[in-house]
Amino acid sequence: MSSPSGSEAEAVSNKKLAIIFKLLSKGELNIAPVIDHNAGVRYPYVEKSLNIKPEEASKLLESLIKEKVLTKNLYDKVFACPRCESVNLSPKGICPSCGSFDIDKKRLLEHLKCGTKFVVNKLFEGTKPVCPKDKTELENHEYRVLASWFECNVCKKKFDTPEVGVHCLNCGLDFKAREGEFKEIYSYALSDEMTAYVKKLGNLRTLAEGLTSIGYDVHFVESLEGVSGGKHSFDLVAYKVEGKKQIRVVIDLYEKVEGEVDGSIIISMFAKVLDVKPDKAVCVAIPALSDVGRNLAKQYNIEVVEGKNSQEAAEYLSQKLA
Ligand SMILES: [Zn+2]
Ligand SMILES: [Zn+2]
Ligand SMILES: [Zn+2]
Repeated sequence: MSSPSGSEAEAVSNKKLAIIFKLLSKGELNIAPVIDHNAGVRYPYVEKSLNIKPEEASKLLESLIKEKVLTKNLYDKVFACPRCESVNLSPKGICPSCGSFDIDKKRLLEHLKCGTKFVVNKLFEGTKPVCPKDKTELENHEYRVLASWFECNVCKKKFDTPEVGVHCLNCGLDFKAREGEFKEIYSYALSDEMTAYVKKLGNLRTLAEGLTSIGYDVHFVESLEGVSGGKHSFDLVAYKVEGKKQIRVVIDLYEKVEGEVDGSIIISMFAKVLDVKPDKAVCVAIPALSDVGRNLAKQYNIEVVEGKNSQEAAEYLSQKLA
């Protein structure tokens, strides 16, 4: 996982970042949907955290996908109305022959004790069928089901399985199950890039706090115009007034989970520093910079601060810039 460069950081607007931090501050990174049979697919966590409407939450999540801030995973597929896409549906059994909803489920029962066979229309769990001969209410173990089928009250046809019909409670359309469409429902999580970026911002915050405590005014991810007219972004730009002069320090942070930060980053930092001409340039490497990197930094007049974590790096950085 590589740390995003300044330009990638800028691609995500401050407004979007504020949204992400608001969502993160509640400790949630995995945004799960719920199916609301009135509003459709909703993301209550996002709605509540940001105080926005269901449609706005869905739109926002999709826009964050486009910007690669979030990634989405298939969470479920639900049946949807082919006309209006609503998931607010009511299923019903219909006659496969004439399409009528007026069908009954019939069962042929036998009262085991007297041998009487009779037909019932409904047999919900717990209901006790009554034997027409001896008028006894029958418990489960007192009868058996010999056969079951469906019967249409309109065309009188008998069949094994009703066709599944669906009524859309949103637009009123009646359609057969096989005419329905499926709608994908997604859950959302922070992208790998964003996870790395959020972690980096957390570390930049630690560095910035140290500098603020020794009198610097620190700007995050700032673009500075160079002599060439081009713009260059630095992770932190720290300002301090000393006497009549304002000191400007540019700082880039590089992290490596394992091993040392590669020396080549000094070359790209030098290109920016050469153009912008700050009073001081510092490369912060966590946990360490390679020997090649340190030598290059010396040649290019870039200061190096290393630390096994952001706290340690912040301490050394503040010592260096005090
Ligand atoms: Zn029928
Ligand atoms: Zn009986
Ligand atoms: Zn519909």
